[in-house]
Amino acid sequence: MSEGEAPGARGMSSLTIEDVVCVPLVGESPKGGWSNEIQPDDSIHALIAVHTAGGASGYGSCFTDGYLAKEAVRQLRPLLIGENAAEVGRLTETLHQNSFWMGRGGTLTHAISGINIALWDLLGKAVGLPVSVLLGGRYKERIEPYASLLMDEPEKMGDVLSGYVEQGYRAFKIGWGPFGRSGSYARDEAIIRAARDVLCHGEHLMVDAGGSDAFWPNRLKWAMRTADMLVDYEVDWFEEALQPDDLEGFVALRNYSRVPISGAEVLTRWQSFRPFIEAGAFDIIQPDVTKVGGITEQRRIVEMAEQHGVAYVGHGWNTALGLAADLQMAAAFANTPFVEYIGGSRYVDGILETPFTLDADGFLDIPAAPGLGVTLDSGRLDGIAVGLEALRL
Ligand SMILES: [Mg+2]
Repeated sequence: MSEGEAPGARGMSSLTIEDVVCVPLVGESPKGGWSNEIQPDDSIHALIAVHTAGGASGYGSCFTDGYLAKEAVRQLRPLLIGENAAEVGRLTETLHQNSFWMGRGGTLTHAISGINIALWDLLGKAVGLPVSVLLGGRYKERIEPYASLLMDEPEKMGDVLSGYVEQGYRAFKIGWGPFGRSGSYARDEAIIRAARDVLCHGEHLMVDAGGSDAFWPNRLKWAMRTADMLVDYEVDWFEEALQPDDLEGFVALRNYSRVPISGAEVLTRWQSFRPFIEAGAFDIIQPDVTKVGGITEQRRIVEMAEQHGVAYVGHGWNTALGLAADLQMAAAFANTPFVEYIGGSRYVDGILETPFTLDADGFLDIPAAPGLGVTLDSGRLDGIAVGLEALRL
């Protein structure tokens, strides 16, 4: 050690950040069930890479229009160049603190999420440990994914689910689509009944109204009556039954409902979650690690939730890297029962060297290799990643 050099500074030069890049994904965007439906060529996800002078790179992803994210990364990049990538918390907070004037909580926060995930991935690789260990330790080595599927008309719902039962899933969430939009309680119940008729061997079933869709028409009394209906079908939770900002409505619904109430997938930054958690709006909080500000922010939110007796299951309508981050987070918290797994998305199933696979019980192993523990496959990203070479795979 040279004179004046702090002990912790040794080896840091190799982790000096040299570049930060954003690569939009296009061409295979899965449907969202939105009233203004996503088209395949729309970009709703982006991959982010942080490259260091020593040659190591970390990878993350964010859930937003990839071209917006690319511009956000261009804005944030000067705050990172030349910095030590190992200082994940300080760097991420520096991005938050210096972007307040461009609109907190939106695309910039989504992009910060991807950068933060990439920094955690880098740090894990640098020290040879999975992110879950860096977060405090692994409470579990595997977890049950629930297949997240769009609702369809009752006549088609059974077929939608059967294919995923055959793939080995044992937990399912159905959401969005026609539910709550036909004006008929009977029609809504018919969808749930059709699903339960197929899922009649002990499978978990969750129901997502999709209340963050544009102009969601239903209010508290609809949600109460629907929650009553769902009791008979033994659903694990009732998600986004109200518009996402309806704090008072969610508090009233949670107090009323015998079915657990979940939500908050559209909120970002821990500051937005606090009033919902403190008011008791949810039984289960569903922050999205690729939107809220990344792993660092998600940990703050989950710890706050736990202090208030609120469970955590991450929102995961994202990519294989987002799922990898969800898996590390789930490992680091003792009572997280599920991760969300989009059914039929190439961005989850088709971009890794070693794809995720279910075991005989329908569980996923939580990667134990350094960082996020997964490796992007350049060949599989060809044609769907705009500016793929910038990822340096
Ligand atoms: Mg949802």
